[in-house]
Amino acid sequence: MEYEAVIGLETHCQLKTKSKMFCGCANEFGADPNTNVCPVCLGMPGVLPVPNELALQLTALTGYLLNCEVPNFAKFDRKNYFYPDVCKDYQITQFDFPSTTTGYVDFEFGSKIERVRITRAHLEEDVGKNNHFDQHSGVDFNRAGVPLLEIVSEPDISSADMAYDYLNALKDILIYGGISDCDMEKGMVRCDVNISVRPKGATDLGTKIEIKNMNTFSGVRRAINYEVPRQIDTLESGGSLVQETRRWDDDAGITETMRSKEHAHDYRYFPEPDIMPLRPSEEWLAEVRSHIVELPLARKQRFIMDYSIPAQDAEVLVGNMPLGAFFEKAVDGSKNPKAVANWVINNLQARLVEAECTIDELKFGPEAIRELVEIIDCGAISNKGGQEVFNELFNNGGSPKDIVDARGLAQVSDSGELDKWCRDAIDTNPGPADDVRNGKENAINFLKGQVMKASRGKANPQIVGEKLLKLLKG
Ligand SMILES: [Zn+2]
Repeated sequence: MEYEAVIGLETHCQLKTKSKMFCGCANEFGADPNTNVCPVCLGMPGVLPVPNELALQLTALTGYLLNCEVPNFAKFDRKNYFYPDVCKDYQITQFDFPSTTTGYVDFEFGSKIERVRITRAHLEEDVGKNNHFDQHSGVDFNRAGVPLLEIVSEPDISSADMAYDYLNALKDILIYGGISDCDMEKGMVRCDVNISVRPKGATDLGTKIEIKNMNTFSGVRRAINYEVPRQIDTLESGGSLVQETRRWDDDAGITETMRSKEHAHDYRYFPEPDIMPLRPSEEWLAEVRSHIVELPLARKQRFIMDYSIPAQDAEVLVGNMPLGAFFEKAVDGSKNPKAVANWVINNLQARLVEAECTIDELKFGPEAIRELVEIIDCGAISNKGGQEVFNELFNNGGSPKDIVDARGLAQVSDSGELDKWCRDAIDTNPGPADDVRNGKENAINFLKGQVMKASRGKANPQIVGEKLLKLLKG
């Protein structure tokens, strides 16, 4: 029998705020254990949580960026469970009235645009982190209370590759919107994957198995590629699947049973009594909407349309937000967007990586790249000269025109001087000159080379070629 996979993702991402969700402690990665803590995020008795305004705004903004409804009523709830990293024995989250509902993400998958529907994006607090040592374990509560957005997708994903591309698209949207830095190495994004399989074409869903807490997108892809065949094999060999939560062992490349799946009622959700329900005003929502940004996919399509650059170039520029912003400024008013894109991608990006610096640290502005392309295009300097100008710009800043003057890089297009070099080349090389006269036009490259040598690379090669031909063939 042929099977198909039905996959939904729950993506947790830490919001880009200075302080935690319900207290004033720093939202900071890498501090000494248990230094960013206070009675609120440690869950001491008698304390009162106060919602972080920016976190509420970023959540609503995420809703708009994911084409969601942002209802004018939402509330927080307590999810009760006992685990060492939850010091107050409950997590504040949103249960039946989340801050955003029913949206979608469009993204490129292969040559098509796919859509994954979003069930909801709700706000909650992160929990502490268990650290395991040789002889003991410890809990670091610095992460407890960090604002966490949980973005739940509908089971619209049918393969590991599609899940991978969806996650990357989602990450780009969150970075573009300033919602989260999505730094995977700092654990800012974590995923739970719900997977079931069913006979191809069936409408009922199969038994849902959840794989918890993966912190790399490639791990998610590998886990799905392991889990789907495992489920199919189980069914094919006459076995049955039980609803459960599994763990992904990245080293072994397998999933294994963690616990039987808990149900919502196991958590005894109830309204958080210490926080008033959220009733965002139209004015507040309008202010949030003023921060809506162009989405990466739309930006890529615009780059291809407006600047006639190849899809691959557009992808590189959109995949690196600061580089793309720099390109947009550089290309503004340029007659040769393709060349501007080439300089930005092939030279600038490579040098930034090599020098380990960011675009903010550059010693020149985007207009310098536009000017550089202009002076190459008008023949004032050669491509090689352009490279030298770029190196100087990168190392010391300045303006391309000034650098050309200071370094004497301007190509010689002056007729008299070129004329003399061309005649000398013909006189001292009668063999190749005759070859050209007799129709072997390739021989002209030798003569051209002699002129370029005599001019120390400053002759305009195109004009030299034309002039030589004219002298030899009239
Ligand atoms: Zn705190």
